[in-house]
Amino acid sequence: MDTERITDLTKDEVFQAISSQISLCKKCSLHQGRTHPVPGEGNLNASLFFVGEGPGANEDIQGRPFVGQAGKILDQLLESIALERSEVFIGNVVKCRPPGNRTPLIEEIRACEDFLLAQLGLIEPKVVVLLGNAALTALLGANHSISRVRGTLIEHQGMNFFPIFHPAASLYRREVFEQMKQDFVTLKNIMKEKVK
Ligand code: SF4
Repeated sequence: MDTERITDLTKDEVFQAISSQISLCKKCSLHQGRTHPVPGEGNLNASLFFVGEGPGANEDIQGRPFVGQAGKILDQLLESIALERSEVFIGNVVKCRPPGNRTPLIEEIRACEDFLLAQLGLIEPKVVVLLGNAALTALLGANHSISRVRGTLIEHQGMNFFPIFHPAASLYRREVFEQMKQDFVTLKNIMKEKVK
């Protein structure tokens, strides 16, 4: 993208330009199976940017992130700290659906990371919430485990990251949902400090 031109564009126009590039992208084999790419959506001035793993079946059909069962859980967790989707941004590590909902391969994560980094650079959130291991690997490297670092604020390269489990991990495990609720309370307290 021409960086000089970007300075003349509004945030929304830059976001649309990134999304257009995603819709044309064939940088990894995931483009072959997509119905729609899922660039992400939400508030371009958000203080919180949620990063999931990749689109599932419902997301692939609708071209929107977190619209299935995991999305309902994410909505409940947001509601538990009095937040709505319209106040945050929700994206994914890879923008096209991995076959059979498998975890994205490291080469697919790397092929797609420029889009995620461009979105992060545009929105400049106070905190980036990493939903599960794929997001953790994409933005902090492979030497972390979500179960060890979940619920802690990690500063890295001038950004604040807050890893938690992926909402899908709590679908059939009530104890994981309770842990996620606790992590959202921690997140709310962090945001009180970060957004003044
Ligand atoms: S997953 Fe990302 S890198 Fe791969 S084809 Fe889709 S947009 Fe391009």
